[in-house]
Amino acid sequence: MAATRKPVITQPFTCHPAGRNEKEKGSNKLLLVSFDGFRWNYDQDVDTPNMDLLVKQGVKAEYITPPFVTMTSPSHFTIITGRWIEDHGVIHNLMFNPETLRKYSHKATQNKTEWWDNGVLPLWITAQNQGKKTASFHYPGGGATYKGQAVDRTLVESFDHPDSNETEWRENIDMVMSWFTKENFDFVTLYYGEPDQVGHRKGPETEDRKMIIRQVDRTIGYLVEAIEKHSLKDKLNVIITSDHGMTTVKKKPEVEEILLSKYIKFSNLTKFDILDYGGFGMITPKPGKEEELYQALKNAHPHLKVYKKEEFPEHFHYAKNERVLPILVYGDPGYSVNGRFIFYVNKGDHGFDNEDMDMKTIFRAFGPDFKENYLAEPFDSIHIYPLMCKLLGINPQPNNGSLAITQKMLIDTSQPESNILLAAFILSAIAVMLVLIFITSVTYTAIQRKKRQKKNHHKAKNNPPLSSTTL
Ligand SMILES: [Zn+2]
Repeated sequence: MAATRKPVITQPFTCHPAGRNEKEKGSNKLLLVSFDGFRWNYDQDVDTPNMDLLVKQGVKAEYITPPFVTMTSPSHFTIITGRWIEDHGVIHNLMFNPETLRKYSHKATQNKTEWWDNGVLPLWITAQNQGKKTASFHYPGGGATYKGQAVDRTLVESFDHPDSNETEWRENIDMVMSWFTKENFDFVTLYYGEPDQVGHRKGPETEDRKMIIRQVDRTIGYLVEAIEKHSLKDKLNVIITSDHGMTTVKKKPEVEEILLSKYIKFSNLTKFDILDYGGFGMITPKPGKEEELYQALKNAHPHLKVYKKEEFPEHFHYAKNERVLPILVYGDPGYSVNGRFIFYVNKGDHGFDNEDMDMKTIFRAFGPDFKENYLAEPFDSIHIYPLMCKLLGINPQPNNGSLAITQKMLIDTSQPESNILLAAFILSAIAVMLVLIFITSVTYTAIQRKKRQKKNHHKAKNNPPLSSTTL
C-alpha cells in the first residue's frame, strides 16, 4: 500500500517519450471508460460475472490511488493529463472566484474553458496534434477548448441528464462503437455518473449500491459483446477506471459532526469559502483575520485537519496553485466538513485523504496490447496517462506519471525481456561449448604428451644417450 506513492515523488516531472517501436508498428484504438465513484472493492460483495471474466481476459490492479483532492473534475483531469492537481489547476468540482464571490456548479463548469485551460494539454488535444481523431462522451473537461483547440467530437452532460438509465448506457456504447468503426476515431473517453450518485444518496454500504454495481457489470458485459459484434476485438484497447471511492458519512449520535460555525463567526472572520462539499473545504479569511481564523479552527475538532496553504502537506501535490484558498480543511474519513449548517443530504461522500482505502478506486484493462490474467500492483492514477500515450503511439506532454509503473501490463514490453532471455541462453550455450572444447583439447594434448613421454622414455632405455666423455 505504502509503495503506491514512492515512484511518483522520485519522478516529480518527467517526460517519457514513446519508445522506438510504437510509431513504426502503428497503434490500436483506445477507449477509456470511467464509472464515477467506483470504490476499489465495490465488486467484492456483489456478483459481477462480466468484471470477473475481464480479470481472466485482461489486467486488473488491486486498486489505484486517485490524486488529492478526491473529487470528480480534479481527478478526471489528472487521468487525462497525467498531472497533479496543483499543476493542472482544476482544483475543485466547483468553479469559483473569491473576488466576485461567484460559484459555479460542477455541471455548469463543463463548458467553461477558463476553468479547464490552464496551460496543460489533455490527451485528446495532444493526440489530435499528432494525427489522431478523438472524442469525449460526457467525460469531465471534454467540453472546454485548450489553447483554442476543441476535442474533435464532444458530448457534454446536460443539467438534467439521468445518471442511471441502463438503456441509455447501452445506447452510449453503441454510439461510441460507431464512432470507432464508421468514423475511424482513435481515442474516445466515455463517462458514466454512477455509482457515484447512488453512493452519495443511499450510502456505499447499501443494497442500492449493490444494485447499481450489477448494472455497471451488465453494461461492461454489453461493451465486451459490442466490441466483438463490431469486429474491434483485435484493434481496440479498453481501460475501465474511476475517479475516487466513497465512504459512509458519519453522523450523530454516533459521532460529533464537524460544524465550523461552532468555532468561528463566519461574518467576522471569513470573506469567502468553499465548504459543505464532502470531506474537504477552503476558506479565504477577511483581511488581517488569517491568524485568528486559523487558530480558532486548528484544534477545534479532533477529526478536523486545518492548514495554512503554505503548510499543506506536499505529498498531496495540491496546494501549490494560485486558485487554492489560504486556509485548507479536511476531515478524517467519514467526517464531512460542514460550514454554517449541516445539510443532511449525502449518506456517502468523498474528498477525503487519498490514502484512506475508501477513497481508492478501480483499474481494469483489456484488448490486443494487454496481457491476460495479469494482476497489477496498486498505483497512482497519474500513471494512466503515459500508458494511454504508449497505447496510442503518441509522444506525451510533460507529465508526473511513469510508464515504468504500468508497462508490465503490456504484451509488447515483455518481448525485449524474452529476447534478452533468449540471448542469454544462446551465450551460455556457446560458453558451455567453448569450455567443453577447451577441456577436450587440453585432455587430448595431455594424453598425447604423456604418450610421447612414454615413447621417449622407452627409447632412452634402449639407446642411452652418448656421454660427453665418449666424444
Ligand atoms: Zn466523482
